Amino acid sequence: MTWGGGFGGGFGGGFGGGRATAGLPFGGIPSELLDEATRLLDSEPARPASDLRFTQRPSAVESRRLTLGRLLGAYRGYLAGASLLVLATSLLLQLGPKITEYAIDHGMVPGHRSVRVVVAAGALYVVIALVNAVLQRWQTDTTGRLASRVMHDLRVRVFTHLQRLSLDFFTEEKAGVLMSRMTSDIENLQQLVQDGVAQFATQGLTMVVITAILFTTNAELAAWTVLLVVPVLAILSIWFHQASERGYLRTRDRIALVLADLSESLYGIRVITAHNRQRRNVSNHRHVVGAYRDANLYTGRVSSLYGPTTNLIGILGQALMLGIGGHLYLEHRLSLGALVAFFLYLNRFFQPIQLLVQQYNSLQQGRSSIIRLRGLLETPPSVDESPDAIELPPVSGRITLASVSFGYRAGELVLRDVDLEIPAGTTVALVGPTGAGKSTLAKLVNRFYDPTSGQVLLDGIDVRTVTLASLRRQIAVVPQEPFLFAGTIRSNVAFGRPDASSAEIEEAIDVVGLRELVNRLPDGVETAVHERGQTLSAGERQLLALARAFLARPRVLVLDEATSSLDLQSEQTVERALDRLLEGRTAILIAHRLSTAERADRIVVVDHGGVVEQGSPRELVARGGEYAAMHAAWVAAGGQRPG
Ligand code: ADP
Repeated sequence: MTWGGGFGGGFGGGFGGGRATAGLPFGGIPSELLDEATRLLDSEPARPASDLRFTQRPSAVESRRLTLGRLLGAYRGYLAGASLLVLATSLLLQLGPKITEYAIDHGMVPGHRSVRVVVAAGALYVVIALVNAVLQRWQTDTTGRLASRVMHDLRVRVFTHLQRLSLDFFTEEKAGVLMSRMTSDIENLQQLVQDGVAQFATQGLTMVVITAILFTTNAELAAWTVLLVVPVLAILSIWFHQASERGYLRTRDRIALVLADLSESLYGIRVITAHNRQRRNVSNHRHVVGAYRDANLYTGRVSSLYGPTTNLIGILGQALMLGIGGHLYLEHRLSLGALVAFFLYLNRFFQPIQLLVQQYNSLQQGRSSIIRLRGLLETPPSVDESPDAIELPPVSGRITLASVSFGYRAGELVLRDVDLEIPAGTTVALVGPTGAGKSTLAKLVNRFYDPTSGQVLLDGIDVRTVTLASLRRQIAVVPQEPFLFAGTIRSNVAFGRPDASSAEIEEAIDVVGLRELVNRLPDGVETAVHERGQTLSAGERQLLALARAFLARPRVLVLDEATSSLDLQSEQTVERALDRLLEGRTAILIAHRLSTAERADRIVVVDHGGVVEQGSPRELVARGGEYAAMHAAWVAAGGQRPG
């Protein structure tokens, strides 16, 4: 028996089973394993190209509430087949004791001795056992296929929904918790669909069938059984059910914490090492893992009480039946065959109860997983596309912010009533103290967030009225710390336009000044990028991100300047690349260094959530305001005007 075995299994299986995938906070495949992994991947069967299309708005099917019934209902054929097979096996299995009864009463007892009957009964028993084995194999196969398909659909659906959600969601949710939704919650459901539902149906049916058979065999003995055994068993089962549910919920919560801690520690390993936090980390992890162990110990204890106690009740029940049934036999109110059959059925009567209670747990686990996944699937993107959104036509790149206010949390405005006009083709540098709201302002332009009030317009069109895809096709964003994906230099440059030709990719590499690097690499543009580009320097990663933006040919560019101090040479290369990239485009530069700001056409000084000054660098210096003060401090510190 596998009491409590279901608790830990889901996690272990789900976690270890997944392949290292780009974008997960686990970095990537360690170099020493890479060759092997590549070999494994090469030997994987090729999947046909997917016809899957991502749409910003969920389809009618996707937006229906997630329920187990609907999940299974998508595969009616499998479901009907599995139900029939469950019914057939539940009925067939219960024929054995009946055959035994017949063989004893008509072939073994004095006065009815018949070798033919005994041999025929034995042979029939064998045939039934064989047929049943075949049917059971068939049933397991059918439910297995059903489960794989249902889970595949669900994984794709949850992942697709995650891709739709807005940035705020990922800021609020811990990556580890999301991972546990995608792994252990889905594993749980898989377990339920694969074994649980069929088991539940089989055991439930078996109990009904056995009860019916017991009553038809001998109503008196059956009534005694029900009266003496069932109430005790029911009370014990209810207790077990409640206690194990409590324990189960505890394990679920604690495994999510273990996962969260694990992913954070792996993701932040560089910072952890640099700050000598390993000891603290280990002791913290021991604490989290310890809490998980305690929860498991509790469920283990509960199971260890329930399993043996039900067994004991079963045996005590048999002892009682021996007394009562033997008495009935001696009084000729029960045949010997019927007494034996009774014993056999009684044995089989307990198994389903134990299994049902256990399966009820897995049903509960599955249900709570469904509830959690449903919560995730029903979270709407905060930046949503309106149903009648239009395609944004090619724009010249004029950006207008009209009375824009914005706060990440209700009641805490980060930007207050900002009015700003950026003419097409100009480069605007946002400067101001840290936390002033520069990045926030930039995030509103490509709709990473929507303003709380006011409007953001591109060429006079409110960005909320156009499709997100068409908007973001014309706006490229280069973040402060560019993210490189597992793949090659080429695939990273072509990230926004996978269909770009080789010539276009080569051009982008030339324009940003990456040629020298590419020539130096062993496989040129096909060189693999590992571990999010940790083998490249900060400047090279920045250039790669610029090449990516150049290839996307956006009308508008939002660029968060890298603060990581590049060495002078890389800085100059990046600046040259920027000059090429910005040519003829509207650009919003979040400038952390005044040397960058000085090169812009206009400077917008942001402070306390508003625009305090704007104008050309010369004008602002001449005006003697906030920028002039910053500029004076910068010049005093050794900065100089370029050119
Ligand atoms: P800047 O780019 O000028 O340094 P930001 O625009 O990043 O400043 O931040 C402006 C303010 O908004 C800061 O007080 C910051 O703490 C807050 N903030 C930034 N991002 C978030 C977020 N995702 N959730 C809540 N507050 C945020």
